[in-house]
Amino acid sequence: MSAQSTRINLLDLDLGGLRDFFLSLGEKPFRAHQVLKWIYHQHVTDFEAMTDLGLDLRRRLSLIAEVRMPEILGEQHSADGTVKWLLGLPGGSAIESVFIPEPARGTLCISSQVGCALNCTFCSTATQGFSRNLTAGEIIGQVLLAARALGHERNGRRRITNVVLMGMGEPLLNFEPVVSALEIMRHDLGFGLAAKRVTVSTAGLVPGIARLRDRVDVALAVSLHAPNDALREQLVPLNRKYPIKPLLDACRAYVAGRRKRSITFEYTLLDGVNDSPQHARALASLLKTVPSKLNLIPFNSFPGTAYRCSRPERIEEFQSIVMAGGVIATVRRTRGDDIDAACGQLVGRVLDRTRRSRGYLATAQGKDA
Ligand code: SAH
Repeated sequence: MSAQSTRINLLDLDLGGLRDFFLSLGEKPFRAHQVLKWIYHQHVTDFEAMTDLGLDLRRRLSLIAEVRMPEILGEQHSADGTVKWLLGLPGGSAIESVFIPEPARGTLCISSQVGCALNCTFCSTATQGFSRNLTAGEIIGQVLLAARALGHERNGRRRITNVVLMGMGEPLLNFEPVVSALEIMRHDLGFGLAAKRVTVSTAGLVPGIARLRDRVDVALAVSLHAPNDALREQLVPLNRKYPIKPLLDACRAYVAGRRKRSITFEYTLLDGVNDSPQHARALASLLKTVPSKLNLIPFNSFPGTAYRCSRPERIEEFQSIVMAGGVIATVRRTRGDDIDAACGQLVGRVLDRTRRSRGYLATAQGKDA
């Protein structure tokens, strides 16, 4: 076990890192391309099976490197086809990933941290506290694991067509590992997904939004949940640091100069809290100022929460008011709730919550700014 953990996990390396790795072994950089294709196109993780590498190199790789994915601790299938994996990490923590099949696409929802430090009041991940950031390999490893477990459709098409970072954690508080994993999702030698098919969802970390734009071309979803600062502060405490105005400015800058791009705003409807016609009207006038779509999420309940889901008529009314105000709004169909796989229901197993503190958050944001 100890020998294993000293080996370098190739999933932690992006394309540049993998080229450097082969150069350091005295090998040509194109070895990186061969290995990437084995891993991400063929889902092969055993060096012995990478037959175009040469026997010597394969032997050397087996001694110093590995392709280590999280360990599958559990796999649950929902009646609607949704699959949820509980994935074990070194040290005993666990995270969750969810695959959501739809007729025209298959979306994999992955985690970026063990737990979350942002304390949004209506999210069950928040109740778990925060333990640590995932490594790049643990992030991309979730995609690799799921791709391998799901296989291909009968017509040879891949089952995962979209990836969303909407599982446990705040992706922009784990910036470098997330960017490295996103590059592999996008790159032709990796999963080769188009920019609009890879989405980072953030609670609104303003400096992180600007940094992300500079580094990798992906779609952005922003968790808004309220049309004014007073209410948003109650639901998303991060709003105290980054209120709505600078957040929307960052969103406008994110799509500026990129054709046909828009931000997806997420808005979880909480009965009697943020779901009135006045809220809907205020939201429409805010969102008209940003190229955007609105995704309304019916609240998913979890043990211990005082919030309730808005009634269906209320959700419908909210949607039509926003649409009448000139904003495209869809209601996210709740998937996998019979296996607690719906938005805000992912909990994993968060050991060592000692870092759940304002201290950690201040440091993480300071680094990010
Ligand atoms: N940290 C990221 C990813 C979170 S999960 C972010 O904040 O965007 C993805 C979405 O589900 C977010 O919009 C989140 O606010 C929302 N969500 C969290 N808990 C929920 C719940 N119990 N019911 C419905 N949506 C929830």
